[in-house]
Amino acid sequence: MQPSMFNVSVPLDGRDDVFLMNTFSDAQLIVSRDVADVLDRIARGERQFAADERDAIDTLVEQGFIVESRAADHQALEEFFHNVREDRSQLRVTVLTTLQCNFACDYCIQGDHGDYNKHAAKMSLDTAARTAEWAEQRLDAVAPSSFALTFFGGEPLLNLPVLFYLSERLAESCRVRGVRMMINIITNGLLLTPAIVDRLTPLGLNGVKVTLDGDRDTHNRMRPLRGGQGTFDRILDNVRQVAGKTRISIGGNFDEQSVDSYPALLDFLREQEFAGQLAKVAFKPIIKPAQSAHPKGTFALTAVGADGKPLGGACMTSAGTGVSSACDNCHFLDEKMSYLREETMRRGFPTMDGVHMGPCEIHKHHAHTIGPDGSLYACPGFAGEATQSTGHIDGRDEQWRRESARRFEVITAWSECNDCAFIPVCAGGCSVAAHAELGDLQKPNCHKTSFEAGVVTLARQAAARAEPALAG
Ligand code: SF4
Ligand code: SF4
Repeated sequence: MQPSMFNVSVPLDGRDDVFLMNTFSDAQLIVSRDVADVLDRIARGERQFAADERDAIDTLVEQGFIVESRAADHQALEEFFHNVREDRSQLRVTVLTTLQCNFACDYCIQGDHGDYNKHAAKMSLDTAARTAEWAEQRLDAVAPSSFALTFFGGEPLLNLPVLFYLSERLAESCRVRGVRMMINIITNGLLLTPAIVDRLTPLGLNGVKVTLDGDRDTHNRMRPLRGGQGTFDRILDNVRQVAGKTRISIGGNFDEQSVDSYPALLDFLREQEFAGQLAKVAFKPIIKPAQSAHPKGTFALTAVGADGKPLGGACMTSAGTGVSSACDNCHFLDEKMSYLREETMRRGFPTMDGVHMGPCEIHKHHAHTIGPDGSLYACPGFAGEATQSTGHIDGRDEQWRRESARRFEVITAWSECNDCAFIPVCAGGCSVAAHAELGDLQKPNCHKTSFEAGVVTLARQAAARAEPALAG
């Protein structure tokens, strides 16, 4: 018997208690320091305990804080990742309807700069029909109980014919198969209308994620139209009109100069009549290509492509699958992320807790991303970087795609993480970041300090809620 390697503990301020969490079982307990000490004594090999201590030990075993051996932890981890990989309960498909965008964000690797949009790919209705056929085959092969269809780009609402076609056809495909359909949209919000929401709601619209980059002035500076006009008020108007109709999440991309404007944005959102209806509010740092000179004041974070081109052609600053996504763990700057998370929670908005971040969909066999030309990718972050394509919806057999698929087949970055307690919720971090920063998607991309900060936040929340569950 020994303490699980997935235990984390936080001494609670001003009291003689300790918050214990096990990231594998997800058990969370507040225990007296004596009980926490029992774990240390077990780790030292002690086996003689008083009756009340043995009762506490029974509870700790039940909740996964004490396991048979380190080997048992590792074996459980292997099984866990196998189950994540092979899980058939949900089929997830992210479709990039277009790589075009109607914004001209300074920081963005895509968008309306120069003649970008002239050449940016857009899915045709013919490709959409073949995408639907492919998805129907997957539905038959996987037989999931739910199907999550996420629209992403570029700006997905710039290609409404494809978005509506896929939604309507696949909603019917799900209906006849008895599968629950969930549609998510990740959008800049400028073209979001009640009519779009009304049309998608009966088909299974699950939520819309809209991006705001700071308070009004900051957002208007960061996310202008091509002519330089601000977009904040129009987006907010659009959100206001649809907030009662569907779940809205607010995302945002911050840099060193804009991060301090986020509390003002949060205050502004809190004052809105739809504040209580927001499903999630979460922000993350802007990503800059490694080899392009990034503007002064942006965080030098993650390469988006070795050649400075868009990694995947997808806007990684909003990559993910919206309100239900685990993908919000891409590229964050730990300290600022923690600061904004606390500010968001302080105003009562639901947000990521900083601990339950993964494993993300790159680890799931039944999660796919489809680019505008029908190319398949392992996750939205790789979409559009053609060499990372793992296949094509038409089943074409090309050696380079097969080789790429093999690279993604089993990503086990965590195998280099030794006995890190966060492996079940981190899985070695974002593979897109590892690929970009380290040139190797199999390497860990570590943001452990952010996980640690997240546990401290969970500890404070638990302390505010409860008295010790276990006392020695
Ligand atoms: S690898 Fe990174 S970009 Fe891809 S799904 Fe995971 S967290 Fe998101
Ligand atoms: S990447 Fe870092 S935090 Fe994540 S599992 Fe590995 S060591 Fe732990």
